[in-house]
Amino acid sequence: MFYKTFLIKYGEIGVKGKNRAAFEDALVKQVKIALARVDGEFHVWKEQGRIIADVLGDEGSCDYDEVIKELQTVFGIVGICPVVKAPLGTPEEIAPYVIDFLAETYHLKVDENWREKQGEELDGPEDSLTFKVHSRRANKQYPVASMDVNAYLGEKILDAFPKQVRVDVHDPKLMLYVELRDEVFIYSQIIPGPGGMPLGTNGSAMLCLSGGIDSPVAGWMIAKRGVTIDATYFHAPPYTSERAKQKVVDLAKIISRYTGPIRLHVVNFTDIQLAIYEKCPHDELTIIMRRYMMRIAEHIAKEDGCQGLITGESLGQVASQTMQSLVCTDEVCSIPVFRPLIGFDKQDIIDLSVKIGAYDTSILPYEDCCTIFVAKHPVTKPRLDVIKRSETKLDDVIDELMEKAISTTEVIEVG
Ligand code: ATP
Ligand code: MG
Repeated sequence: MFYKTFLIKYGEIGVKGKNRAAFEDALVKQVKIALARVDGEFHVWKEQGRIIADVLGDEGSCDYDEVIKELQTVFGIVGICPVVKAPLGTPEEIAPYVIDFLAETYHLKVDENWREKQGEELDGPEDSLTFKVHSRRANKQYPVASMDVNAYLGEKILDAFPKQVRVDVHDPKLMLYVELRDEVFIYSQIIPGPGGMPLGTNGSAMLCLSGGIDSPVAGWMIAKRGVTIDATYFHAPPYTSERAKQKVVDLAKIISRYTGPIRLHVVNFTDIQLAIYEKCPHDELTIIMRRYMMRIAEHIAKEDGCQGLITGESLGQVASQTMQSLVCTDEVCSIPVFRPLIGFDKQDIIDLSVKIGAYDTSILPYEDCCTIFVAKHPVTKPRLDVIKRSETKLDDVIDELMEKAISTTEVIEVG
């Protein structure tokens, strides 16, 4: 089957009042970016609550699976409908296109005499394919009421496929959509999109991206709400390897298919970590280290014009993610910290990681800078006043170390 057009349905953005046009334009833009990754040419435009992507060129000019795969990375899309087009005409003129479409899509056998029949076929047996016709007059000039179009086409479908189909208006297996526009759009499949809102409609945020499972998923989730993202990775050479860094670059690349290009800031965190290790109580290492990470991430976020931070933390997952620990980490931040995984179980996060294609990379066994300096028994209920007092031990070195870490940050443009 050659689909000449993909009809793109969106959800929430349809209800945003006067922002609607801006949302639709953002979605059109993202659809164009996604389709630019597919061989072939497309014309993308918006019309009456829908985005339409026309394939320019004949059969074989683009790969159907590629189109679907790329459109499924576009936040804001709830459904992708591969469409066959027919010229606008009377229901009698439209019927042959509908019959062809069904015969080919559902491998049905056409009774060649269907044109002569006058709605004489009855419903097929119990186990036949149940269907319903759902027509919609997007073109209000069309002279026949939708109900009448449905009834006529329904009869003709029964005539064309005797004993193979059966009407079920309540729970049909096959819903045949017939949209009457300047041309007729015929489709029956609505392939799910990722949902969410188009990128660029909701500000930007800085993702603290490690090489683990959680943070790429967290970035994906916030981007899904229309937020563009940048990322910061803290590495600790020689304790962490080039391969560990490359893994983070690879993860940024994977999520950038959804989130758009990412500026990845790679901060050399070794000297700060060593100073903490040397001067602070070992059971507080992780929490103090995390506070310095957040301070630096916030500094870079502000420089980059980001309005918030994102982490992959989930309540109670490890010692640094207890309620008390999060209180201590948050205390150093003046911009919001988004933790979209906060209430997720690990398995839920893994499922999402697999779904977005990050999992196989996330589980590669390269060390993370946090795991090298971890204490055997980290505090799980740190007290803010105690932590602050411990941090004073760094007073004479930390400003300089922070300054150096920030000024030597490497920026990698990903995606
Ligand atoms: P992840 O699977 O994302 O690595 P995790 O379960 O290993 O998370 P932690 O190591 O406690 O948890 O890190 C919590 C969050 O802190 C991470 O999700 C990430 O947002 C951030 N983070 C941790 N280590 C780094 C790092 N080296 N660079 C940047 N951000 C980091
Ligand atoms: Mg980690």
